[in-house]
Amino acid sequence: MIGMGTWEIGDAKGGGLALEVQALRKGIELGMTLIDTAEMYGSGNSEKLIGQAVKGIRDDVFIATKVSPEHFGYDDVLASCESSLRRLGVEHIDLYQLHWPSYEVPIKETMKAMEELISRGKIRYIGVSNFSVAQTLKAREALPRSEIASNQVRYSLTHRSIESELLPFCEREKLTVIAYTPLDSGRLPSGRIPQALLEKYGMTPAQMMLNWVTYRDAVIAIPKASDLKHVEENAAAVRVRISGDDYRAISRKLA
Ligand code: NAP
Repeated sequence: MIGMGTWEIGDAKGGGLALEVQALRKGIELGMTLIDTAEMYGSGNSEKLIGQAVKGIRDDVFIATKVSPEHFGYDDVLASCESSLRRLGVEHIDLYQLHWPSYEVPIKETMKAMEELISRGKIRYIGVSNFSVAQTLKAREALPRSEIASNQVRYSLTHRSIESELLPFCEREKLTVIAYTPLDSGRLPSGRIPQALLEKYGMTPAQMMLNWVTYRDAVIAIPKASDLKHVEENAAAVRVRISGDDYRAISRKLA
């Protein structure tokens, strides 16, 4: 339910990089085995860092990366995938996502390349990111032989716009929603989550946010944390589940 985001990791210098690798290793050890990255994060440095973190334990992790829209042409998708594989130092990518919709390259062309990557064994699942319902439907139509496994979109207690249309659609159509920026970039709504509820479950505000966002079966979350204390906190966030009544109460309070 809780994986790890890696935007802005790989941008650090020297010793900072070793700490980032350490944070990722710690997160994997604590069960946050889905790692999300993208070819554009740190211009490839995020993927390189993940490559270091998963060395020797590749089979224990699920690697999700993304191709950028400027590489959505057929040959470009194939080339981008090869470059990501090389930076990650792995033989296959578990989930390959279209980072956001392209208004230039027809989705049919992009998805033809994605299916080719599946048949070559380079990727296991196809995902999209920042796609609306209409765009997801069009993307699905462009895939004669495969399903879309997931849509990665912004979702947190304080950013709820997907609840009106996209989330019910994904639930109905059995797509996993990968909630990005689930901690609202660290701007925790601390004062607005009732203290009594935090005490009832023994949770910090960040843990409550992650528990809340993954309450619905279709949703998983990918918080980013470089601080080891944050990593430990996030990994423990769903050890206890909040009750349906408390989920609804928090949803109403922060709507
Ligand atoms: P986020 O995960 O909501 O927040 C990250 C911030 O929260 C960091 O400053 C982190 O600090 C802090 N933090 C982490 N755990 C904490 C805790 N337990 N208590 C207090 N603060 C905590 O924001 P995000 O990085 O934007 O989103 C997560 C991931 O989603 C990204 O890394 C990326 O993989 C993905 N993403 C995807 C898209 C897309 O278009 N598909 C867009 C944005 C993000 P430290 O680092 O110091 O621990």
